[in-house]
Amino acid sequence: MRLSAYFLPLLKESPADAQIVSHQLMLRAGMVRQLSAGIYSWLPLGHAVLRRVEQIVREEMERAGCQEILMPSVQPAELWQESGRYEAYGKEMLRFLDRHERPMLLGPTHEEVVTDIFRRCIRSYRDLPQNLYQIQWKFRDEIRPRFGVMRGREFLMKDNYSFDLDFEGAKRSYDNMFQAYLRTFKRMGLTAIPMRADSGAIGGDMSHEFQILAPTGESEVFFDAAFEEIDFFADDLDIERLKELYAATDEQHDPSACPVPAERLRHGRGIEVGHIFYFGTKYSKALGATVTGPDGDDVIVEMGSYGIGVSRLVGALIEANHDDKGIIWPESVAPFRVGLINLRASDETCTAMTSDLDAKLRRAGVSTLYDDRNESPGVKFATMELIGLPYQVIVGPRGVKAGVVEVKDRRTGETVEMSPDAMLDRFAR
Ligand code: ATP
Ligand code: MG
Repeated sequence: MRLSAYFLPLLKESPADAQIVSHQLMLRAGMVRQLSAGIYSWLPLGHAVLRRVEQIVREEMERAGCQEILMPSVQPAELWQESGRYEAYGKEMLRFLDRHERPMLLGPTHEEVVTDIFRRCIRSYRDLPQNLYQIQWKFRDEIRPRFGVMRGREFLMKDNYSFDLDFEGAKRSYDNMFQAYLRTFKRMGLTAIPMRADSGAIGGDMSHEFQILAPTGESEVFFDAAFEEIDFFADDLDIERLKELYAATDEQHDPSACPVPAERLRHGRGIEVGHIFYFGTKYSKALGATVTGPDGDDVIVEMGSYGIGVSRLVGALIEANHDDKGIIWPESVAPFRVGLINLRASDETCTAMTSDLDAKLRRAGVSTLYDDRNESPGVKFATMELIGLPYQVIVGPRGVKAGVVEVKDRRTGETVEMSPDAMLDRFAR
């Protein structure tokens, strides 16, 4: 993509109403624009990151054996009256009437809809387990939308729902999701700490929130250093051991009773990026989601639900990866891998060489953003630092004469000179 043609409305100053760094940087880097409180449009750069985050989530869901569906965002109130949540949900649910005066709502979550699908389609225990997921916009009329996409009113969530015949099955589904979540966040370069969460009376230890660490997180968390050492991708990952490792919010943490020795206790601030939940037969009972069991009797299915804040993750990734110059994208979610900077667009040899390298990189499957604008080197460097592509390839008149380009690593700031061929080899790997 050529920057001169790219829709990238950069801002020089941080807007005064943006309180946290990810919100400031997302606005400055032209990733999003606010339409109304907590409601955002995603512009090309932001949308590219959102899609990459979504794709990692999707791949890990598929790997865990879940199947993708897409449920409607507009739902009939009737279904929620059946589950008993219509009154209880309160003002976070946006309600309205359709032209026939039927009460409708914008889905804040999809337990009711998915349970309705299940009860209409699945009859026998032989068709279990099932695990259905979607990546869909939710609407919650949050009392205080803030921090940009981190707490929006409209936001993108991956939500999935498991259906099992009995508790043992439900626990297997839960543990399967537990590991899938750790893998998902790790692939984005994030260490997520699973924290035991309140699951009400049922399920015991079967509700966890996943917090990633960033200085601006909403809550303080304490955890065992072992979380930083575990290989979440191991096939034989011991989930039970992981669940027993110490992790606590500041409200739960009691220094005098903490089982972790001081040298192994880590603390930081956490952003909740995921939540998994076992809730037994709460919805299946209310909505009559049953199957015929092995002995011919009706069995109410056991359910769990599992959410990841896909759009919140874009903000959270920036909170965890930035410096005073701008964003530093982990490679796995970067909107482009390489930013090509032509230091002198008025110089024909420079321009010919940069255009040639751009074509070769793209042919090798490397995504590039090529700054071909007629701007000063200072402006070009500042733009690239701000939007945070993992690598910059810098072509200038001096280098062209010497037959070298500069390759800069955005995270380390390290710059190395190499021949164009060596550069192509490096990225085409
Ligand atoms: P919170 O306590 O932050 O309001 P929640 O418990 O309401 O979260 P869930 O219903 O479990 O959240 O939703 C699953 C995930 O969706 C959360 O872990 C979070 O990452 C994301 N999420 C929830 N609310 C919002 C929001 N208003 N804006 C962006 N992401 C959100
Ligand atoms: Mg909430």
